[in-house]
Amino acid sequence: MKKLSFMGECMVELRSNEGSDTSLHQSFAGDVYNSAVYLKRCFSDIQVGFVTVVGNDTFSSRMKDNFEVEGLDTSFVFSNENRSAGLYLIDTDASGERSFTYWRSQSAAKTIMSFLKPEALSTLSENDMFMFSGISIAIIPRDERPSFFRFIEALKESGVKIVFDPNYRARLWETPDEASKNFKQALSLCDVALVGVEDIIELFDIESANDALALCESFGVSEIVIKNGPLSVLTVLDGERLEHAIVPVANVVDTTSAGDAFNGVYLGSRLNDVPISRSVEFAAKAAGTVIQHRGAIIPRGIVETALAE
Ligand code: ADP
Repeated sequence: MKKLSFMGECMVELRSNEGSDTSLHQSFAGDVYNSAVYLKRCFSDIQVGFVTVVGNDTFSSRMKDNFEVEGLDTSFVFSNENRSAGLYLIDTDASGERSFTYWRSQSAAKTIMSFLKPEALSTLSENDMFMFSGISIAIIPRDERPSFFRFIEALKESGVKIVFDPNYRARLWETPDEASKNFKQALSLCDVALVGVEDIIELFDIESANDALALCESFGVSEIVIKNGPLSVLTVLDGERLEHAIVPVANVVDTTSAGDAFNGVYLGSRLNDVPISRSVEFAAKAAGTVIQHRGAIIPRGIVETALAE
């Protein structure tokens, strides 16, 4: 059985309803968590692990139950008795504009480096792939990031393919320079880079998808996927460049987690030895389906059915 682990934070998501309805809808979401869910739903034959820390609150225990309902391996879901789950609120104003408010500065997931001990390294070294994002790094306290990178280096040395998506969120970083320094380190270590153009344009002062590709190539990444919304996807695999057309979705309802769904389905396909063009096709189909529904994680069955068509 192929094995992939995702490391990051899942949060409690609260979403306001439209109009004068003040009740909130509660679910669970987080960038790499969303990818893990879509991967597992679409490729049940792959063992998908989630590496994180939950807290001592009831939402944390429901969150962990939810990981299990989604079929994720929870062997590396640690518990910190002194912390609780992070939380965010998606509010939509009268004009339909969404805003996000976070309560995550003391979340349990930020303490992950206290749990990633040598025993964890030896088990996680059995994975085929290990994925983290810029958000996974940003939530780790600055002085613990060097030990995170040592951990990633050790995984890579054991033959695990390292996968990275920058997913830049300015407010999570001390300074843009700190983000860029960490992203460069991640790019120099990873085997697969999955990059949304919009995410890095400002940080690296670039202008196009081609610039994003060149940036990744300059770090020697062997498999690169540049996601450029509805415009195109560019890939490089072992030096071969391809441009893939995207069928634009007419009825976009909510673009949350488009890139995450893309990543999960792309990695599942690649782990199943699907060629790169077909993997991009599947991934884009999944992302294009997710954005026609509300929420980061849409009801089970919809993406799976779309991929089977
Ligand atoms: P990220 O969310 O990582 O920044 P993108 O915004 O490029 O990445 O979106 C990820 C993927 O979602 C794209 O590669 C594409 O396949 C799909 N996608 C995004 N917007 C659209 C759209 N309007 N129509 C069709 N597909 C889309």
